[in-house]
Parts: sequence; structure tokens; C-alpha cells
Amino acid sequence: MFNRILIANRGEIALRIIRACRELGVEAVCVYSEADKDAKYLRMADRAICIGPAPAKESYLNISRIIAAAEIADVDAIHPGYGFLSERAEFAQACRDCKIEFIGPTPEAMARLGDKVACKNAAKEAGVPVFPGSAGAIEDPEEAVKIADKIGYPVIIKASAGGGGRGMRVCHNEGSLRSNIQAASTEAQAAFGNGAVFIEKYLEHAQHVEIQVIGDKHGNAIHLWERNCSMQRRHQKLIEEAPSPGLDRETIRPVCEAAVRLIKQAKYHGAATCEFLMDEKRNFYMLEVNTRVQVEHPVTEMITGVDIVKTMIRVAAGEKLPYTQDQIHVNGHAIECRINAEDPDRKFMPQPGPINRWEPPGGPGVRMDTHVVPGYVVPKFYDSMVAKLIVHDETREKCIERTRRALAEFTVEPIKTTIGLHARLMENGDFRKGGVDIHYLERLLK
Ligand code: ADP
Repeated sequence: MFNRILIANRGEIALRIIRACRELGVEAVCVYSEADKDAKYLRMADRAICIGPAPAKESYLNISRIIAAAEIADVDAIHPGYGFLSERAEFAQACRDCKIEFIGPTPEAMARLGDKVACKNAAKEAGVPVFPGSAGAIEDPEEAVKIADKIGYPVIIKASAGGGGRGMRVCHNEGSLRSNIQAASTEAQAAFGNGAVFIEKYLEHAQHVEIQVIGDKHGNAIHLWERNCSMQRRHQKLIEEAPSPGLDRETIRPVCEAAVRLIKQAKYHGAATCEFLMDEKRNFYMLEVNTRVQVEHPVTEMITGVDIVKTMIRVAAGEKLPYTQDQIHVNGHAIECRINAEDPDRKFMPQPGPINRWEPPGGPGVRMDTHVVPGYVVPKFYDSMVAKLIVHDETREKCIERTRRALAEFTVEPIKTTIGLHARLMENGDFRKGGVDIHYLERLLK
């Protein structure tokens, strides 16, 4: 096992990784920007090193500063968390060059599965169902029109290097496809430094179902079943749950097994998530693979009992996966509500500033993943998520009731948050029935 790990991230996920380190008897080193210098979670680390000013480009996204901190602290490994540098193959490569273990896949495996076009081709080889669409990047609008005629409208244009729901355009006819393809490529070049775009069939009524997988360096890999993340706004998840409502194990098992084949074939080690859309007939189409820990990993931890972050660290240290597939069982139901510092009544406007009153919920089956304490000041520089409320119970119905109870206990003042919206959603008849599609929340909020 490692002696010391550097956490190249901030906020709740940094604290989540500190906790995993503690339980493994490993020292944790945090890095922080000037905007986070007073954050209380830094005190829970064995050491905290300032890596620069508030803008992420000058701190959390700055590879040389993070590597310098890692050298100073003399760490064996770096955990990248999610977002920031977690999916940058060049960062994984920089770690390797400095003989620091990157807690995640090799740069090669990351490039193979992290790029949407490369990943689709790998998926086809592994027998994972993918969307009908272009086989690779598209340069010529004529080519796009030909493919769209074959698969039928609507189609979606996506950036091969895209992420965070950005750079996607839906086209309902030939005219809009022609006029959008060039613009999408220019936008992708500016946003991701890679102008490659591709098209695929656009599903109007689909659910987002994703499979958690994890592999070790000895060629073993398992899945931890699925999560349903259909409650989205602007392609950003707001509620995640596991298992997926109304989905029987026999339907989802082959999809999980295909996901395991894919990461084995890619010689992938570490945690990964294969994201799928499921249509009304329960056909699955893979969207992409996320080559890192996901924000919503706790719902899977709650139903399987597997500590995903600790397992990531263990496999990075060269240990064999501590579980075989037949040891993984689904127990009960879990729901995660993302608590964002945003005002749902004013177009989800970000709410930076001090939190004077912070009274989180507790009690049976309630887990709070957050770095916030009373007096915390939400910085304006980063993501607006301030907490994840994760609730577990025996059945989905009970879990919804428990989530309602927990949300009612939760008080945050004076900034506005998504707590009230979650409370309303827990009472929403369609959500309670289960099976709402990925556009449901947008329609509801209109
Ligand atoms: P990103 O990497 O930017 O998060 P994804 O490919 O994971 O992009 O897609 C994010 C979300 O966009 C999906 O959960 C879904 O809501 C929507 N989406 C993506 N592809 C399609 C598609 N082919 N049809 C319908 N919706 C889609």
C-alpha cells in the first residue's frame, strides 16, 4: 500500500478521498487554491499545500504546480477525483514520468475509452451496443447528411472530446444539420482544443442508465450494477438512484457484462462508468465511458457495500480486486440529491457567499457527503455543488419517504439552494412512479 497520496481536487470529493486514506492508514496531502485557503476540510489532511490563485487554470488545472506539490510532499500516488484533471491523459502521463502512481487508468487506456469516437469503436468490438451514427469524426457536411438520411432525424452532433453536457446540438432536419456541423466543430475546437465532431441518432424519450465497473492490474474486472440518472437539467444530473426503477436484473445483466468486457479488452484498471441511454423498449445504447470516479458513486456504495474510493486506491497500489462478481449483491435502494448553491426560482443562478446557518440532516440511512460547515463561504470560481445527500432504505418507496424526511431537516441560510426543489420532486407523482425520461425535469421546470 502507498504511504502518502496527494489529492488533486477540492471540496467534497477531496474530503471523501481523505476519509478513504484514513481508513487505509495512508497519509493524505491536499492541494488548495487561494480561494479555498480557509476551508475546514484541509485540516483533516496530514498536509495542505497552496498551489496558486483562485482561477482553476492557475491552480487545480495546473499540472506543473500539482506535480511540484507532489514532489515537495514526496507522495507515492495522486488521486484526481472527478472534473479538473481527472480525465486528462497528459496528466496521467506527467505522473508516470515523475514515477508517481496515477490513481486511475494508464494514459493509453484513458485515451482509448475517454475519447468518444475511439470509445465507440472499442465498444463495438466488445459487443457493447452503441448508437447508430457516424463511425468516426465527420469533416464534410455531405457525409453527415448521408448518415442522417440512413439513421433518420433527429440526430445529435457531439464533440469527440466533449464533456459536462457542452458542445451538443440537436438537428431535426437536413437544413439545421448542414448549418450546425461547422459551427459545432469550431465550438469544440475552442472549448476542448479538438474540433472533431460526430453524429448519432437522437432519442426523444430515453432514460440515462450507467454501469459502474472496476478493474485491477491483474486483468480482473467486475461491475457494481447500474445507476439511473435521468433527472437532469441542461444535461447535468440532479438526482441519481440505484437500482434503476422497474428494471429487472435479467434485462440489465447482459449490459453490465458487456461493460466488463469492454474495460477488460481496453486493459483498463481503476473505476469507470459506462453511460447508456435506454429507450422505451429497453434497448441500450452506449454514450461514453467516464474514466474516473463519478459524483454519484455513493448510491452504488450504499446498495452494494463496496467502498469504491478505497477500492480504486487498492487496485492502483497493485492489489487484486478484493471482490469477485458473485460476491456483489444489490441491497435495497439509494437516492442521491445534489445540493447546489443555485436559485431554482431564478434560472438556477449561482449563489456564492457565506453560509451562516448550516443544519444538515441525519438519522438512519442518511449519508451526507459535504465539505461545508457553518460559516463556509461558497467561492464563485468553481462548481456550485455544496453537498450530496445520499439516502438508503429497503425499497424505493421507503427511500423516497426517507429522502423527504431528510430534506425537511436540512436548513441552509441565507444562500438559496436546490433543497426545496428536491423536496418538491420527492412528492412528484411521475418521479414516484419511476421511469421518467431525461427531458422530464426540463419540461417540468418550464
Ligand atoms: P457529456 O460527456 O457532455 O456529459 P454525454 O454523451 O454523456 O455528454 O451526454 C450527456 C447527456 O446528453 C445524456 O445524459 C443525455 O441526456 C443527453 N444525450 C446525449 N446523447 C444523446 C442522444 N443520442 N439522444 C438523446 N439524448 C442524448
